Amino acid sequence: MLNTASALIDLPALSHNLQVVRALAPRCRIMALLKADAYGHGALPAARALAGADGFAVARLQEALQLREAGIAHRLLLLGTLLDQAELALCSQQNIDVTAHDRTSVAAIAACARERPLRVWLKLDCGMHRLGLDPAAFVAAERLLSGQPGVSELIHMTHFSSTREVSSSVMAQQIERFLACHALNPERAISVANSVVLIARPELRVDWVRPGIMLYGENPLAADFELPRPLRAVMTLRARVIAVREIAAGESVGYDGCWSSSRPSRIATLGIGYGDGYPRLAGNGTPVCINGQRAELVGRVSMDSIAIDVTDCADVAVADEATLWGPKLPVATIADCARTTSYQLFTGVGQRVSREYID
Ligand SMILES: *Cc1c(COP(=O)(O)O)cnc(C)c1O
Repeated sequence: MLNTASALIDLPALSHNLQVVRALAPRCRIMALLKADAYGHGALPAARALAGADGFAVARLQEALQLREAGIAHRLLLLGTLLDQAELALCSQQNIDVTAHDRTSVAAIAACARERPLRVWLKLDCGMHRLGLDPAAFVAAERLLSGQPGVSELIHMTHFSSTREVSSSVMAQQIERFLACHALNPERAISVANSVVLIARPELRVDWVRPGIMLYGENPLAADFELPRPLRAVMTLRARVIAVREIAAGESVGYDGCWSSSRPSRIATLGIGYGDGYPRLAGNGTPVCINGQRAELVGRVSMDSIAIDVTDCADVAVADEATLWGPKLPVATIADCARTTSYQLFTGVGQRVSREYID
């Protein structure tokens, strides 16, 4: 038993979720998001389980190169990042699509594509103001890049800022800005849909969709949009009990005594903490599953451990395994308890947590 904290990764669930995306967008090509080590699930095993996708997108060149080195032959998209001429030449050589997202990257890509082949995703800033060209620069870039002999394909892309309000006027305005720019060369393929957009805006399921979080089992709009086939949670985060103790009523647990027992209580200490990626802001009462029963987090999360109240749970012993999130304990619930998102929880699962894969 080398590790007290482990993440079980259900690869068939990942493949299942890809099928759900296929069913939703049967006429689209799927660019599956593998950035940040496949949202903490492990980029290579995830790529293999998602082999049915049409391509994979990552955020950094190093992530794309790791996939190529491992023999992943799919189309790869490098989202907006810094790339010098040598790196662009490497993208060309390794057949990695690049994103032109500001004037600097447009100029660099145009220079590279004077001689070398490159597939380019031209990104509009439709209102998020993070990455992407303003409309005037987008028009100029479309003209410049389409004149380069190496540019074999130019795809119009954007990324919307809404994570929930997909029917808002903000969203409508952002769509309008994108369509106005796309209209300049309507033959180009389009890519605009992340998970939220894919789920909530069927009319934007066109050409290339870019699902991320839904592949890993979370419907970010679960409250409002039920999917025809439910997604399956891919990751189960688990930790073993490393100690059990009885405390009297009125005793406190953890740093600074943020929780006190109102009755004689049994407290189990689990070998997982914020140093493993369990969120430090998870408060008293955050649910944990142990031996099929529900327990609650008590006291502050430490670096290497947390405490749970198991007074009402039968038979909790050292070395038993608890579940912090997984198919029966939605990561979204834990994210709410910790005032964060499932994205941050998944990507924060640390190197110290061993990954085990179900094939
Ligand atoms: C991460 C990302 C996505 C996927 O977003 P999800 O909300 O995880 O579906 C799509 N497009 C871009 C540009 C991204 O950075």
